[in-house]
Amino acid sequence: MASRPATHRCAFVLLLLTIPVLMFPDSTTTKERTVTKLADGVYEIRHPDAPDTFPQSNTIVVIGERDVLVVDSCLLPSAAKQDIAQIKQWTNKPVSYLVNTHWHFDHTGGNATYAAAFPGIQIIAQKATQKTIADFNQGAMDRYPTRAERFKKVLDSGKAPDGTPLTAVDRADYERSLNGLGDVVAEFKSTKQLNPNVSFERELIIDLGNRMVEIRHIGRGNTAGDTIVYLPKEKILATGDLLDHPVPYMFGGFPVDFVETLWKLQEFDASTIVPGHGDVLHDKSYIQQTRELMRAVNVEVEKEINEGKTTEEVQAELPKRLDVKKWKDQFAGSDQDSQGFFEQSFAGLVKQAYVQIKMR
Ligand SMILES: [Zn+2]
Repeated sequence: MASRPATHRCAFVLLLLTIPVLMFPDSTTTKERTVTKLADGVYEIRHPDAPDTFPQSNTIVVIGERDVLVVDSCLLPSAAKQDIAQIKQWTNKPVSYLVNTHWHFDHTGGNATYAAAFPGIQIIAQKATQKTIADFNQGAMDRYPTRAERFKKVLDSGKAPDGTPLTAVDRADYERSLNGLGDVVAEFKSTKQLNPNVSFERELIIDLGNRMVEIRHIGRGNTAGDTIVYLPKEKILATGDLLDHPVPYMFGGFPVDFVETLWKLQEFDASTIVPGHGDVLHDKSYIQQTRELMRAVNVEVEKEINEGKTTEEVQAELPKRLDVKKWKDQFAGSDQDSQGFFEQSFAGLVKQAYVQIKMR
């Protein structure tokens, strides 16, 4: 995810006091840091959202006999620092490789922190990702403080950027984002974006010492340079934001290609699947669910384009043609945050599908 708009935040605080967290379904909001052991020497770290509610990517740590490889450095340098301290407790081997699964800065913000801790580290990205990070990310970080003006405008006008009136929950959410922005900006002021120094086109295979890691670009989806990381022996697959749980990230990208890329993702012999955000998955049903949603939208958008509809008409009519509530329930369940995120993400999907199909 690159720029999740502020969404509803649910208040399950009272319930959380009495029921173990694991009993809750996954949410697009992440409140705490968790570490999950996926296999001997392979870990997933999930990060709490930044103080301004911006999401942070999952990080995967793969320890070999000689070297360590990390997938995605998450958003905040302070979170990357915490991860590095954790890695040093697990092993005295150096992090020699860091893979950025795509250019969104919630996956790259900690690059410089890793480089400072492990001089000589190779930061790896697909060619398109390497170029976009070099062209765009530093500027985006420098513009990050302007989010304050956008948030203030929304709060002053009482309307979200799409013109819908703010609910009390929305307002509280924007206020929280605004209040937390200072801490995030302060972190970025003292840390620069570091660009990947190694690129590949289709695949790169690395032996960490009795541990093979396959780094592959299997097609476009969320971005032009989406990258997956696969451990064939352990059957572990890290997907970046090709897969986000419990709600797909669909604000940009290439919805037509996305369906094909998710088909390819399903073909991997994987029993542990780590999405870019959200809970670790243990079967492929969520890949299929995501693919079916995107395919259904693509089919319907194409029909409407063939009927001569404009993008605005498609945006207005498609929710009536497709049972959007059914999809929302299927992905978001009863979690308010996830529901709000689904609505925004779905609108993004329709918009992008229109753009890509129209251009064919
Ligand atoms: Zn992301």
